Amino acid sequence: MTDHHDRRAELAANLAEVRARIARACLAAGRAESEVTLVAVTKTWPASDAALLRDLGVTDLAENRDQEASEKAQQITGVRWHFVGQLQTNKARSVASYASVVHSVDRPALVEALSAGATRAHRIVQVLLQVSLDGARGGALPVDLPVLANQVAGAAGLELAGVMAVAPRAVDPAVAFSQLHRLAVALQAEHPRATMISAGMSGDLEQAIAAGATHVRVGTAVLGHRDRPLR
Ligand SMILES: *Cc1c(COP(=O)(O)O)cnc(C)c1O
Repeated sequence: MTDHHDRRAELAANLAEVRARIARACLAAGRAESEVTLVAVTKTWPASDAALLRDLGVTDLAENRDQEASEKAQQITGVRWHFVGQLQTNKARSVASYASVVHSVDRPALVEALSAGATRAHRIVQVLLQVSLDGARGGALPVDLPVLANQVAGAAGLELAGVMAVAPRAVDPAVAFSQLHRLAVALQAEHPRATMISAGMSGDLEQAIAAGATHVRVGTAVLGHRDRPLR
């Protein structure tokens, strides 16, 4: 009980801090706070933490591995589950059965597999196209976005919702996120409902909000440092 209450208090304090950072960044950018959704990334943390966050008012939770995600999504209902991070095609069917939003769609085979999974589960899954801003693995190249976008837009069970990126290590996040914003605007010219921009993590959410992010994906600043190595 005591542990539970300590953890709840810790998460509440972290959350207040992150919400204050988001509020300050919105103020600085002249944006309404309601334009930015906090997606708390619970990977490596127990389902009990996800439940505490939900009870503290977090509406959107994210994971980056199918098995862990599917277990937590079964246990923790009443939130929108997001899938972030690299997705293997053979896991797509499973992910489409519980995820409301998949942030990491970067190739045609994945679109097909997610569409099959969503259709079979009688669900609509929102899809973000992950963009590689430095040509590294994990993310489509900007030049490939229009074709991928049309594929998603025409796929049963999927809704093209926007774009996502991780700022490359070697690049100023402000520069990376403004490039992502330009790509989002170009996408919206063809697909007006693809309005989501998923950008910004614990270390760079301010720069992302300044560049128009609608969804920030925050792990460490809400939950603490992960002990387990990242996959
Ligand atoms: C883990 C992860 C995050 C959260 O990162 P933090 O630095 O812990 O906030 C965001 N996006 C993706 C894709 C992740 O895998």
